[in-house]
Amino acid sequence: MTKYIFVTGGVTSSLGKGIIAASLAKLLQARGYKTTIQKFDPYINVDPGTLNPYEHGECYVTEDGAETDLDLGHYERFLNTFTSQANNVTTGRIYQYVINKEREGAYLGKTVQVIPHITDEIKRRILLLGEDNKYDIVITELGGTVGDIESLPYIEAVRQLKWELGEDNCIVIHLTLIPYLKAAKELKTKPTQHSVKTMSENGLTPDVIVCRTEEPLYKDLKKKIAQFCNVTQDAVIEALDADTIYRVPLEMMREQLDIISLKKLDLPLDTEPELSKWKEFLDKLRYPKSKVTVGLIGKYVELQDAYKSILEGLIHAGAINECKVEVRNIHSEDLTPQNAAEKLKNLDAILVAPGFGSRGIDGKIDAIRYARENRLPFFGICLGMQMACVEFARNVLNMPKAHSLEMNEDTNDAVISIMEEQKNITQMGGTMRLGAYDCTLAEGSKVAEIYGQKDISERHRHRYEFNNAYLEAFENAGMKAVGKNPETDLVEIVELPEHPYFVGVQFHPEYKSTVENPHPLFVAFVKAAKESHAARNNGKTVFEKPVTS
Ligand code: GLN
Repeated sequence: MTKYIFVTGGVTSSLGKGIIAASLAKLLQARGYKTTIQKFDPYINVDPGTLNPYEHGECYVTEDGAETDLDLGHYERFLNTFTSQANNVTTGRIYQYVINKEREGAYLGKTVQVIPHITDEIKRRILLLGEDNKYDIVITELGGTVGDIESLPYIEAVRQLKWELGEDNCIVIHLTLIPYLKAAKELKTKPTQHSVKTMSENGLTPDVIVCRTEEPLYKDLKKKIAQFCNVTQDAVIEALDADTIYRVPLEMMREQLDIISLKKLDLPLDTEPELSKWKEFLDKLRYPKSKVTVGLIGKYVELQDAYKSILEGLIHAGAINECKVEVRNIHSEDLTPQNAAEKLKNLDAILVAPGFGSRGIDGKIDAIRYARENRLPFFGICLGMQMACVEFARNVLNMPKAHSLEMNEDTNDAVISIMEEQKNITQMGGTMRLGAYDCTLAEGSKVAEIYGQKDISERHRHRYEFNNAYLEAFENAGMKAVGKNPETDLVEIVELPEHPYFVGVQFHPEYKSTVENPHPLFVAFVKAAKESHAARNNGKTVFEKPVTS
């Protein structure tokens, strides 16, 4: 029978529930348990697809095209397995489902209420992942903080489930903060006590307490937390700040979070966690042999979480290249044709980020022009690829008005256009080209060599597409469409074969990069940055020939 672990948060947000959940899942997986993680978000949006990155960080996309919370990215990167729509549920989705059912007459004669109708739907979605015994353990992370009004139905649903499934089949891990007061030189447990008390008032008590802390918890403090929060002493786990999120599974192993969880779930502990690949990655991450500086050009660069998967993809690719990748954030709004050379001159490569809307678009185009003309490795993702096409059309094909229809509806040279089926869409949520699509790579192309195969599949999240009416002109002038959708012929990858590394992809490779499986395009990009760095430091450019066509 599938067992369930719930992860709740207390005291404050941003304590890293997602990383703790992913780390525990990693340890259980490494012990041979089939494990998955799911996240419930207590907001009313049906999914985070309509949220601005400033509000909620990056929107992560799964194979089946669900627009989800960025924590699902952590789950996939840690576990090296796919998640799906079922792994991320919001209050909006729950209510939408219940209200639709009410309209259909499914509850005829009844008053539809938070309890039982909303809580029943929450429970159904929790248990859905455990159906068919696909997983031994399902970890469910509850978004928000205990005490929030909007979290109450979730806490109640978990309370009911714990009672229905029994203590051995269902445990609650509560993540809290133990603040350190510098002046008093003391760690304080009171906020944790209050948070556990608030949860108990709602009928739910934790089985394990994970304490985020800047300072190590001494033994008596652990005892005090155990006593006041009513858990066994071995169930108080220290989660010290770590230098990288990828070290957290090992920290949790040292603290035996996996062991205490398995014991409480009455599951056997016969194997030790197999983490050799993980440790190998950590070693490489810790002891790089070289360093490169990559410019990340986007309009949300001031917010760490906005490009989460891209930053993680660069970390994975850096480790396998035994190279530290320092990311320099460059706001696309700050770039102009006059200052681009100055701002980009000390970089070893640039990555132009995905995005929507016109803000900062000219700066992206200026940066791409600089990279193309100066043979600086360039990686364009989604909007980054689209702008590489616009730049090429304007400056190589002599079409100064070329643009994407998204930015200029009246352009006569819409090199980036919109498909017929997208034109009549009126609803914004969940209607882009989303999820995994097949792509065929051109024989002899750089990307075919990088992937080491001809047929690939990558995840998408966009509305606009390369306009094939211009394809011949692009190819004749040197920009090749080297990846195409085999069914629709849509251009998915462009490259400049004469350039050291100039690759634009319509899809989002960053969603598929994991610790154990770094994405080949990121790996090749970092390798190109290394070469560009080495060449620059010897006072040479990588290749002599300038790329203008
Ligand atoms: N705004 C562009 C589109 O909708 C690109 C989207 C993206 O970068 N994810 O096609």
